[in-house]
Amino acid sequence: MTPLPFMTTPAPLFDPPEWQHLQPVALRPHVLRLTCPNAGLMTGPGTNSYLIGSSASGFWVIDPGPADAGHVQRLWQAAGGHIRAIVCTHSHPDHAPAARPLQALYRSATAPASLTAAPILGLPSAATARENSHFYPDQVMADGALLDMPHPDGQSAPLRLRALHTPGHAANHLCLLLEGDGLLFSGDHILDGSTTVIDPPDGNMSDYLESLDRLAEVCHHAGVTHILPAHGHAMAQPLPTIERLRRHRLQREARVLSAMRALPSGQADDWLPVVYADVPPHLWPVARRSLLAHLQRIEALGLFKP
Ligand SMILES: [Zn+2]
Repeated sequence: MTPLPFMTTPAPLFDPPEWQHLQPVALRPHVLRLTCPNAGLMTGPGTNSYLIGSSASGFWVIDPGPADAGHVQRLWQAAGGHIRAIVCTHSHPDHAPAARPLQALYRSATAPASLTAAPILGLPSAATARENSHFYPDQVMADGALLDMPHPDGQSAPLRLRALHTPGHAANHLCLLLEGDGLLFSGDHILDGSTTVIDPPDGNMSDYLESLDRLAEVCHHAGVTHILPAHGHAMAQPLPTIERLRRHRLQREARVLSAMRALPSGQADDWLPVVYADVPPHLWPVARRSLLAHLQRIEALGLFKP
């Protein structure tokens, strides 16, 4: 990996507290957020689609979201009809399905019609992905891949987006670093206001923790000032945020181990109410997925000796 540049002038970030689903919010002049109206248990206030660029230089669209025709139309308008690439952080149904319709809109509007414009980028879904999470990009965006475009202000260094493969929440998960701006687009790996679900086999707890460590290193070296998640608000103080998440996972793992020791002949469903006693029961079906991920990790590392 080539050295990551330090950020020298942290620019402020504008992130109003209220959610806006019908028009984009300019977090910075060249970084827009348009939130899909798909609020829910798993999606918080909705999926954040991010647009980076300007209508003159074109936009990279990160996580176009679910197949919501209104949202696709609004993304298209927000991009001023100029899309350079569509990047999906991972293949889940609230992130990637809008990529093809958005691309189709762009291609049909460009004259002469282009079959290569606005490519869909990302990592293909792994064999472990669920039925609703299959994803095949036009171009693979592997770890370390870079996208460049002239800076929209016409003076600053070009915008550069760097792909970081961060498996854990999904095997094909990417985080994206906007170098020079000190912004990390974290997809679902790091969320604001909730803990991401690790759903095996595509999700993997050890991979998740390793990716967190890697992100901490990148944030430190690249001078990241804000994490921009796919669900929720921008988060300042990336390093304490990541450390808090790490601690949370390891505390949960300790609870799993103590539940296992208390009832060595038990199964996941016996341990679930003990391990997640602090979580409302209506969330237990989701928590159960993360519990399975903890159990896999505990077994792989040989942490439990009955
Ligand atoms: Zn996801």
